Amino acid sequence: MNTVTIQCPHCHQGSIALEPRLLLQGAIFTCSLCGSGLSVANETSTQLLEQSLDKLEQIKQHAHAKPLM
Ligand SMILES: [Zn+2]
Repeated sequence: MNTVTIQCPHCHQGSIALEPRLLLQGAIFTCSLCGSGLSVANETSTQLLEQSLDKLEQIKQHAHAKPLM
């Protein structure tokens, strides 16, 4: 498995462990702290992810988090 952990863009304190491939497929990963769901929903960010998995810093800028009801 190729799991990557990023800082939660919602609470900036928790961390979100995600798998880039699943993220590309529309999977939602949740913050371990606040429970926000993170997904990448636009083509720009998915292209960035495909081109270079090392550029997660950029992905974080395109990713969005919202509370799961
Ligand atoms: Zn969070």
